[in-house]
Amino acid sequence: MTSFPAYLATKTDKGQSIEKTELTEDELMDGDVTVKIEYSALNYKDGLAMTNSAPIIRHYPLVPGIDFAGTVVESSNDRFSPGDRVVLNGFGVGESHSGGFAGLARVNSDWLVPLPDTISTRQAMAIGTAGYTAMLCILALEQHGITPADGHILVTGAAGGVGSVAVSILSKLGYPVTATTGRMQESDFLKSLGASEVIDRKSYAEKAKPLAKELWAGAVDVAGGNTLANVLSQIKRGGAVAACGLAESMDLPTSVAPFILRGVTLYGIDSVMCPMQKRLTAWQRLDTDLDKDLLESLSTEIGFDDLPQASSDILKGRIRGRTIVKIEQ
Ligand code: NDP
Repeated sequence: MTSFPAYLATKTDKGQSIEKTELTEDELMDGDVTVKIEYSALNYKDGLAMTNSAPIIRHYPLVPGIDFAGTVVESSNDRFSPGDRVVLNGFGVGESHSGGFAGLARVNSDWLVPLPDTISTRQAMAIGTAGYTAMLCILALEQHGITPADGHILVTGAAGGVGSVAVSILSKLGYPVTATTGRMQESDFLKSLGASEVIDRKSYAEKAKPLAKELWAGAVDVAGGNTLANVLSQIKRGGAVAACGLAESMDLPTSVAPFILRGVTLYGIDSVMCPMQKRLTAWQRLDTDLDKDLLESLSTEIGFDDLPQASSDILKGRIRGRTIVKIEQ
């Protein structure tokens, strides 16, 4: 029987622990497609799960890792055949169903997205859940009707995963982009991705006024908290914010003023249970609207054994851009 390396989360009376181990095929969870995982990625949520900083894992024993890309090795579903290259984001993978930090996964075929021919499995995980979520945020702003002529788009947490991919795509689409970051030393990096201006995130950290000077046609926010409240107060009349994260806080200490006095719209972005049609659109758009050289420049590849340290680093805001995890075979 095939065995493969994996991180496995278990729970005892003393709490959750995660160890690197070897699993065998008979330990895979139920599903109609088995995938040989080539790459996974490190997302903020993976950092929370791997360090037990938030109750992300809801079933034990479980392989963490909320996304992966690889090749189908077995399928009892007509839509997938051995050799197909696939990507999976969310649907509870790495939370309630075993995920990407393993050599093999067995999953429900309804969760799998066929990878476009022009995206490699490595590039798919350079994008990962963070990059796909950045695309969902941009689709929301586009559907709102915001065009490059409307003015600057603000991207918060720009040196992180969602932020760096959002900056790259928006600038390729012709939007003028302003980036906020707590790491001003990354200004040149952010400008290389296409940001025309970089602002210290400190100016978004204090309690927000109900309304402030109108500066942005739209925004992508990964932070929540005072940051999102300040961003909302600065959105131009009729503009919109796509909010996907809580890197600062789960709270939103704002007022109704931006909504009722400026007609601002706040879109909530949930990548986990996003319907399949929108996922397919997002992955097609990532193929055409994300510069693959820029993607490489914002990505770092780590080995399987580097995961525990990198998981702790991402929560401390020490990871730049995206982290690809090469799966040990
Ligand atoms: P990263 O850790 O890669 O990036 C987060 C960035 O947020 C950091 O790099 C930092 O950027 C910024 N940040 C950190 N702390 C603060 C703070 N106190 N105030 C303001 N900004 C801060 O994470 P990801 O990009 O992968 O994810 C970002 C957020 O989006 C997370 O909260 C994650 O859980 C969420 N998310 C949600 C999804 C959904 O489906 N809704 C899907 C994917 C992610 P800088 O150093 O530039 O300031």
